[in-house]
Amino acid sequence: MQTTGSIRNKVVSSDLQAERNNCNFDQLELTHLLWGGQKEYQRVRGIIADVERYEVLKGSEKWYDMSREEQHENALLRLRTMYDKYFDKYFKEYKPSMTSWWSVGFQGLMPFMVTFSMFYSAVKGLGSDEQGDKWLPLIRTMKMTGCYAQTELGHGSFVQGLETTATFDKEKQEFIINSPTITSFKFWPGDMAIYSDHAIVFAKLIIDGKARGVHGFMVPTRDRQTWAPLPGIEVGEIGPKFGFNSKDNGYLALRQVRIPKGNMLSRLVEVDENGKMHVKGDPRALYGIMLETRVWICRFASQQLSQGLTIAARYAVVRRQFSTLDASKEERKLLEYQTHMFKFGPLLAYIMVMNITSKYLIQEYETLEEELMQKKFDRLDIMHHLSAGYKAAFSKIAYEGIDTCRQACGGVGFSAHSGLPSLQADYAPNTTYEGDNTVMFQQAAKLLLKTYKQSLKGEKAQGYLAYLNDVDGLLKLKGQIITVEQALDLDKLDKALAVRSAYKYKRTMALLKEIESKSENERVHSLAAVDIVGMAHSHILYVAYQIFCANISQLGSIKCPNLRGHLQDLGRLYALSELKNDSASLYEAGYFESTSGTAIQNAQKHLLSKLRPYMIPLIEAWNFPDHLLPSAIGNSYGDIYETQLEWARNSKLNKNPMPKGFKEYMLPILTAKL
Ligand SMILES: Cc1cc2nc3c(=O)[nH]c(=O)nc-3n(C[C@H](O)[C@H](O)[C@H](O)COP(=O)(O)OP(=O)(O)OC[C@H]3O[C@@H](n4cnc5c(N)ncnc54)[C@H](O)[C@@H]3O)c2cc1C
Repeated sequence: MQTTGSIRNKVVSSDLQAERNNCNFDQLELTHLLWGGQKEYQRVRGIIADVERYEVLKGSEKWYDMSREEQHENALLRLRTMYDKYFDKYFKEYKPSMTSWWSVGFQGLMPFMVTFSMFYSAVKGLGSDEQGDKWLPLIRTMKMTGCYAQTELGHGSFVQGLETTATFDKEKQEFIINSPTITSFKFWPGDMAIYSDHAIVFAKLIIDGKARGVHGFMVPTRDRQTWAPLPGIEVGEIGPKFGFNSKDNGYLALRQVRIPKGNMLSRLVEVDENGKMHVKGDPRALYGIMLETRVWICRFASQQLSQGLTIAARYAVVRRQFSTLDASKEERKLLEYQTHMFKFGPLLAYIMVMNITSKYLIQEYETLEEELMQKKFDRLDIMHHLSAGYKAAFSKIAYEGIDTCRQACGGVGFSAHSGLPSLQADYAPNTTYEGDNTVMFQQAAKLLLKTYKQSLKGEKAQGYLAYLNDVDGLLKLKGQIITVEQALDLDKLDKALAVRSAYKYKRTMALLKEIESKSENERVHSLAAVDIVGMAHSHILYVAYQIFCANISQLGSIKCPNLRGHLQDLGRLYALSELKNDSASLYEAGYFESTSGTAIQNAQKHLLSKLRPYMIPLIEAWNFPDHLLPSAIGNSYGDIYETQLEWARNSKLNKNPMPKGFKEYMLPILTAKL
């Protein structure tokens, strides 16, 4: 008998249960894989259990109907509860537990999140050991809170264009921090408007009238007792945004604010009493430190998209539309429509590839951190390249993927109660902050340009770039994918992605040569800009495929054979989706022929019908708790109607038959005698 899901009565919809019963693989093994290992998953479960112990800590649908002020208040209450209940666990021993708690247990944006992440990391990475000893314990105990104030009204991506000045006053041994123009107002930093009493202000250092580059300065901004801005400080909140509304992004102007000389962050550069600058460390270390947040954006992309897909896919196996099943009056589940599988299957494939690639990236970053401490910089170039490229590629995939999930739910996807609009809106700035995506692809392209120059000198590319050593060999491969069997062959798919990238690489380098008489600016920013970005994009997505395949084919890495089979199919699906999205180069290179497009599409159809029965078990392997992202249609009970109706009934606008304004403005007209 068909049962309808009900959270209230703890009844799982029979449709959803039937999907779960299809599981033919070790789901726990996949769960561990997705969360980064068994130990990490245990930690996540521990956090979830801590949150579940107190009702106030759990996410709630009421959040969707709150004003910005109410959301901030609610977030502060949750933070305070966490502080009171779990001080030792999450606050005393600050770092990783704090940030992962936020990612699996906090609805909306966490107050002081920037204090615990970017502010803390900047002090640790850019401050001297003495500054770290002085400030880090204060930050850990929240005796000092702060933000990362780089972006200005006039400049974001172009950091060297910042106008805020830090002028050295030799006599008083102080820096004078000043915002000389409207465009020099700091604008956007998170936690700046309300939650910080300090800011790391990035400003142009001026010594004896000479500009000496952009550096970070620790500037107190508020009185700790009254929380009022200190003299010379104008600080405020920038107002409502597309999403991220529970975060206090701010603006800040500094009017001749004096700070002691010791407040310049001086791990790498120091100014002595006489105004002489001393470069203490290798400035390359700075780039390494700045990669951390970017790497974590890559890591969270698959998790965030999976939250959206969990909601949309559960809905799609319970929601039915049209009696289009042969020999049955039953309506068809949304996910039984081929078009629906074409929306969700590729997203699942991207999720797996992004997840495994970003785990690799994190491991590489940890090694890089250790090496930087030993003043070893060999890994820096490749890490800069990969983290910039993946930040751009993955945040785009995740953002657009969440939108696909939202649209795939029809009307209810537009309702805040589905959970999808807030997920999408809060995820949106990932494509912008920590480096705008276009600028990030340009950064990623630099290593390819360098590799090309080195190849002219006979130097060989290494690791995941090694395929570029044989561009001509790759481009000799012709007519390789004509049949469905060929389109399902992992090696041919690998070669297809390699050829696509190699073709763009060769064409871009040829174009740059062709226009070599033009200035560098003209070539890179006007004449070949699209080619450079397109080349980096294709290359990065090919490297992800290489990393994914290398990881899942490693002996013993995936124990359950059925799971390994599903992951291989998802790898194929990733490659096919990529080739379908952008295949012009493969036709131009001759790797594809006129029938290749049909072979690709038929191979996708084949894989999607093969994967169809396992979609819910594969997607649900994340095991997200319902309270992480409250949804009236995507909860674990497959309750898509009862809760939807209940939350609608509880909507604030239903509290009073005549909402504010109606009586004063409308009733007199509606009840007036004609
Ligand atoms: C929610 C949120 C939180 C933020 N938090 C912080 C924070 O804590 N601290 C902080 O300092 N900043 C923060 N920022 C600011 C953020 O880092 C910047 O918005 C980002 O770096 C982009 O800069 P911009 O806004 O000036 O865009 P611009 O640089 O003006 O870019 C605008 C457009 O121009 C394009 N463009 C720019 N340069 C080029 C180029 N060379 N070639 C081709 N196209 C180009 C971009 O692709 C983009 O489409 C935050 C932003 C947001 C949205």
